[in-house]
Amino acid sequence: MAMFNFKSRVIHIGDIPLGGDNPIRIQSMTSTNTMDTKATVDQSIRMIEAGCEYVRITAPGVKEAENLANIKKELKKRGYTTPLIADIHYQPKAAEIAARIIEKVRINPGNYVDRKRGRINYSESEYLAELEKIKERIKPLINICKEHGTAIRIGSNHGSLSERILLKYGDTPAGMVESALEFVRICEELDYTNIVLSMKSSNVKVMVQANRLLVKKMMDEGMNYPIHLGVTEAGDAEDGRIKSAAGIGPLLMDGIGDTIRVSLTEDPEFEIPVGKRIVQSSGFRVLGSKFRVLSSEFSPFKYSRRKSNKLGLIGDNQPPVVIVDEKYFDEKLINESFKPDYLFTSDCKLKTFDSSYLNAEIELIKIKKDGNPVLINNNESLVVIESDQEIPIQKTKDVVLSLMDKKSLSPIILKRVCNGLTKDDFLIKAAADCSYLLVDGLIDGIWFEADNIDPKEICEISFGILQATGARISKAEFIACPSCGRTQFRIQDALKKIKERTTHLKGIKIGVMGCSVNGPGEMADADYGYVGAGKSKITLYRSNRIVKQGINENEAVDELITLIKTDGKWIDK
Ligand code: SF4
Repeated sequence: MAMFNFKSRVIHIGDIPLGGDNPIRIQSMTSTNTMDTKATVDQSIRMIEAGCEYVRITAPGVKEAENLANIKKELKKRGYTTPLIADIHYQPKAAEIAARIIEKVRINPGNYVDRKRGRINYSESEYLAELEKIKERIKPLINICKEHGTAIRIGSNHGSLSERILLKYGDTPAGMVESALEFVRICEELDYTNIVLSMKSSNVKVMVQANRLLVKKMMDEGMNYPIHLGVTEAGDAEDGRIKSAAGIGPLLMDGIGDTIRVSLTEDPEFEIPVGKRIVQSSGFRVLGSKFRVLSSEFSPFKYSRRKSNKLGLIGDNQPPVVIVDEKYFDEKLINESFKPDYLFTSDCKLKTFDSSYLNAEIELIKIKKDGNPVLINNNESLVVIESDQEIPIQKTKDVVLSLMDKKSLSPIILKRVCNGLTKDDFLIKAAADCSYLLVDGLIDGIWFEADNIDPKEICEISFGILQATGARISKAEFIACPSCGRTQFRIQDALKKIKERTTHLKGIKIGVMGCSVNGPGEMADADYGYVGAGKSKITLYRSNRIVKQGINENEAVDELITLIKTDGKWIDK
């Protein structure tokens, strides 16, 4: 039923194999200083005890790479042999040291060799010469990995592509894919294939499209490397969980992904249960490596909103609506920002809060476990496709695509019945299922029935899902990294304070990043940036320009608010 059923090859990362028919592995990354062996070992153990199957540790330089030996030794002494991964940026030397010590090295093809030089073009021969240079620089690492049985993840990140790739492809899914495949082709020439690939972005749509395109390109070139999935800088709390599920869930449902990392701005052990819930709700292994063309009207590689008629607040190019059942609803309890657009009344109509009724027939298509629904659609109606949580959401997509093939212009509402779920399970399930349709612009509204969940929370989660998928913005957006050994300020506290004071600023995007190595690039489309720059120091950005440096972290949140006020973008709560 999945769209891509991509069966990857098995690769070896220590004694935990990845890919093929192996379970989807869950991993995370430490946030301690890598030179603090005790803190890193203690945190790694908390992660492993929670179910983390690979532990990634940053190695910003040679001394941190060397200290991985102490961390590994201490973990072994305490009875833990979980494979370790070194996270490398800009430092081939650190990668070569780490590859002799631990089981896997993650390199970013955007910065392993290339540095930004402000070039404005590359001739074909210059481009090829750069690839030759990359080959020479990566050869020593490959030889070490071959000798020690070390795996490599080639991980492209939206926002940190090389200048050469940016000039040819832009900061696009195609650029992300090519950035990684250039390295893969070199590895294959050097007869090295113990490779994992990843395409990450803080933008859910970009992340989904990049991974689908990666699979397509791999199939075209006869490759089948395992894929690591993750939404970068997802933030914390419910927002972070919803965004992670919205990005990772649809890909697992497409049959893509062998290992996942949920990136939360929280202690890394808290990422593991979220990862397990996402895999449980969306992940299954399907054999076959075959791309299933679902509809001539639909492309999985680029976003476009399905064409539909306008019915009241629903359809056409209006943002997707939120609907709740009137019988569960108490208007007084609802936060003004998360008020549903329509209430479903006891006489089966949709009405707004000012009691204007939607003037359209509602056509209910109920999906059952067995058999496909019969579609008799008249273009004037509003279609509600209802299914319960046990029915794979792929069946709903099939119905939507059949309607597209029939040239139906009826707006479509996804109604999902999720009874009996805890709130933690509900928000993951709801986000993954809805995103499966929202990231492709296929639906015009969402409607949940969930007997265990407070209707106020259903509304907030519904708006959170629309925001996470970029379908509808109802509050400020935060791009916050999970932090790692490069972070030298209290990022979790900072994010909480910034959210408390700015969440109501609808439409503003704020990046909260642990370091200036990756931070500025990966929050490139944020309106404001709050970025760590040395011990307890913060640099503030407006768009991607530095506004003020060296601010003490105790004063930096106030400074950020002052900056927003100076720009005339502040509104009181
Ligand atoms: S942006 Fe955050 S997670 Fe990424 S390298 Fe910097 S501190 Fe680490």
